Amino acid sequence: MTVSEYLYLPEIWPKISLFTKFTVIVTVFLPYFFLYLACSADPGYITRENHAYHMSLYPYDYALFHPGNECRTCRFLKPARSKHCDVCKRCIARADHHCVFINSCVGYGNHHWFLLLLLSTCVLTTYGGVLGLYLLKAKIQEQYPMWSIWPPKEMDYSRYFALWGWGLHGDIRIGASTLLAILTSPLIWALFIYTVFLIYCGTTTNESMKWTDFKEDMNDGYAFRRPLAPNRPRNIRLEPLCPRWPSSPEHIILATEDAQPPSSEKNYPGQGEWEHVWDLKSVDNIYDMGLRHNLGDIFISDYTFGDEAGEPPAERRPRGRSISTKSGYPQ
Ligand SMILES: [Zn+2]
Ligand SMILES: [Zn+2]
Repeated sequence: MTVSEYLYLPEIWPKISLFTKFTVIVTVFLPYFFLYLACSADPGYITRENHAYHMSLYPYDYALFHPGNECRTCRFLKPARSKHCDVCKRCIARADHHCVFINSCVGYGNHHWFLLLLLSTCVLTTYGGVLGLYLLKAKIQEQYPMWSIWPPKEMDYSRYFALWGWGLHGDIRIGASTLLAILTSPLIWALFIYTVFLIYCGTTTNESMKWTDFKEDMNDGYAFRRPLAPNRPRNIRLEPLCPRWPSSPEHIILATEDAQPPSSEKNYPGQGEWEHVWDLKSVDNIYDMGLRHNLGDIFISDYTFGDEAGEPPAERRPRGRSISTKSGYPQ
């Protein structure tokens, strides 16, 4: 990207207006700014000092995250939604994925900067491509006024593409950078849209992969669930209260290795008979509070749910949405 800008900007600079110069400066600057913030921000490293805080951020959903599991490396209880990263060698709060481009994990502390980095890069490549096309079009039309971006009716394709080639070749720096911007733009948009889709679903890349595994277990008949009483006794040391989060699990869901219900000897939480879970339609994602709140939780540290957080749990419950309400999730 930097090489393209180095080749591209000096060439286009004399050809663009003052206002366009201003928009180019802003568009080129923003991805570097968000890249710096995404790289330098603490992604949510869990330490002994902040462990209690991270334990109180999200409740265990008793499906992907169960209380009482210890990270073998960090030697503390894994907070819900956290993951130990083998590259960073630490546990990351609300871990999404380890990103090689920012050389850091994307997690609770920098997910918003990562999202803005993707968005600003999408805008940059799209704007660079469109501006480059506009300049190439102006250059070709100077010599061949009949030519246009869409093939003119009265021009055959061989001549149309030959003039494209002439335009690209005549200004190779602008031509190559424009082509690169146009070709990379859909990939970056796809990554951005996928990231927003995961936020819309109230999940992370890490959790999405876990749900995919769970879905296979469900299809094969290895997954079971039984109700969790809302007022069940809980061991506060293993499962602290999460007063800010307005949704809590109604079932414990487990996958067994022999397609038989979990053994009664293991003393699992919950009450009643175990029943098969055949698909994700019957599973609630307690971390999905709707797009507005999901974005709030990404962008605002210690996000609270306003007046709604004061409602009794029974009235809050319906806002945790079934995973299946999001069409096609997870694939
Ligand atoms: Zn760890
Ligand atoms: Zn990492």
